[in-house]
Amino acid sequence: MSEAAKKLDDTLLELGQLLEPQHKAIRYMAGTRIFESGAPGDFAYMIDSGYIEISTFTEGTKQIIAILGPGEIFGEMALLDGQPRSASATAMHEALVMPISREQLLNEIWQGSPITRLILIAAIDRLRTSFTKSQRSVDENHDRDLSASMEKMEVQTARSNASQQLRLRFEMERAIKNEEFTLAYQPIASLADGRIAGFEALVRWPQPGGGLHSPDQFIPLAEQSRLIVPLGAWILKTALRSLATIGSGSAIQQDAQSDFFMSVNVSPRQLEREEDVEHLVSIIEHSTVNPANIKIEITEQALLLDPRMATIALARLKSTGVLIAIDDFGTGYSSLSYLHRFPLDTLKIDRSFIDGVVNDKNRQRVVSAIIGLAHDLGMDVVAEGVEERDDVRWLHAQSCRYIQGFYISKPVSFFDALGYLQRDIEF
Ligand code: C2E
Ligand code: CA
Ligand code: CA
Repeated sequence: MSEAAKKLDDTLLELGQLLEPQHKAIRYMAGTRIFESGAPGDFAYMIDSGYIEISTFTEGTKQIIAILGPGEIFGEMALLDGQPRSASATAMHEALVMPISREQLLNEIWQGSPITRLILIAAIDRLRTSFTKSQRSVDENHDRDLSASMEKMEVQTARSNASQQLRLRFEMERAIKNEEFTLAYQPIASLADGRIAGFEALVRWPQPGGGLHSPDQFIPLAEQSRLIVPLGAWILKTALRSLATIGSGSAIQQDAQSDFFMSVNVSPRQLEREEDVEHLVSIIEHSTVNPANIKIEITEQALLLDPRMATIALARLKSTGVLIAIDDFGTGYSSLSYLHRFPLDTLKIDRSFIDGVVNDKNRQRVVSAIIGLAHDLGMDVVAEGVEERDDVRWLHAQSCRYIQGFYISKPVSFFDALGYLQRDIEF
């Protein structure tokens, strides 16, 4: 890739991170009223420079509630509960403020966790009540105010979502302590010789009445609550124990044994703190397996979320001798030039590109370009979500090295996975 292309990609990447909707700042001269008590609320404001006085009038007497300065926000209450302004805002000196629309504010809040939302709603209600108390008889208005705001903020939904999530979080905490989680293993085949070249370890959480909690549901929750840190450490330890079992037995055809790998998913939350990365390193170092047979999978999204953190953490993991794979490639920003910044060994093409590739010329162009680029950068490629024989044949013709998907097997128990080591796949 040329220097110019790299530069362009870098600029786009940085722009992408900054592409939050921007609004023009508004300048208010000293003494200007920004909004009046009782007026409808359309914007909240973030103070860029200057000071804003928030005040109410009770029986003709001004009461200053707060004086706010740079970095502080005001006017958000009326936006959140749909009630009129409960106080007035006045610029004390010349002030520069950034307006935030109701839609933008609600978007930000709905992106947060249900528990954050519930805390926010409770805080607003309490704040509103204390204002109301100081201004007029609470009894006649409070219930009405509260129920109106409850409707507007869909408090009931927020409450039940939050309690459901809290319950799941407590259950997850208990399940980690009691080691209720298990691992499933999905075989990854080499297209050169049809042999199973490695497994991907995938966490499973059995439900009490049978069945499983879906990883797509509980992994994001584990990430939000940081429970992924202890859970992820358990996953790595357990997967390495399984790998050690494979290495010590004669399960693998002898000549293939030296580069058989175990892929383990690591979420970005596990890499945020130095001590958590060091914990992963110590699990790797205390295991009896050769680190060169361990492959750490990290999603493309995670690399892009915080490239600086990812660079430091991946370099540390890499220093132990493990291999690193970029997972779900194609689902994120898909900048091609950032790849060289990370010490990557394997690129896993997301299954959305692979599913039905053989019948789709556009997909074929994209997938073969990705394979070519990965090879240029010295990476091998795993095609994920391979379900059809025709897709396997097409991938083979593109020199794709590995395939993973239901065509070979769904994720299975360790015992069943061992059975795959004795057979070759046909296509
Ligand atoms: P992933 O890392 O992309 O894992 C592959 C997922 O694709 C697995 O779903 C697997 O069952 C599914 N899959 C494999 N082959 C096929 C196929 O041919 N067709 C289709 N339709 N699906 C296929 P699973 O096990 O439900 O995991 C979902 C996601 O949950 C994973 O996506 C990963 O992001 C996360 N996850 C699972 N286990 C772990 C773990 O141990 N640690 C972390 N951090 N995340 C995990
Ligand atoms: Ca994965
Ligand atoms: Ca994947």
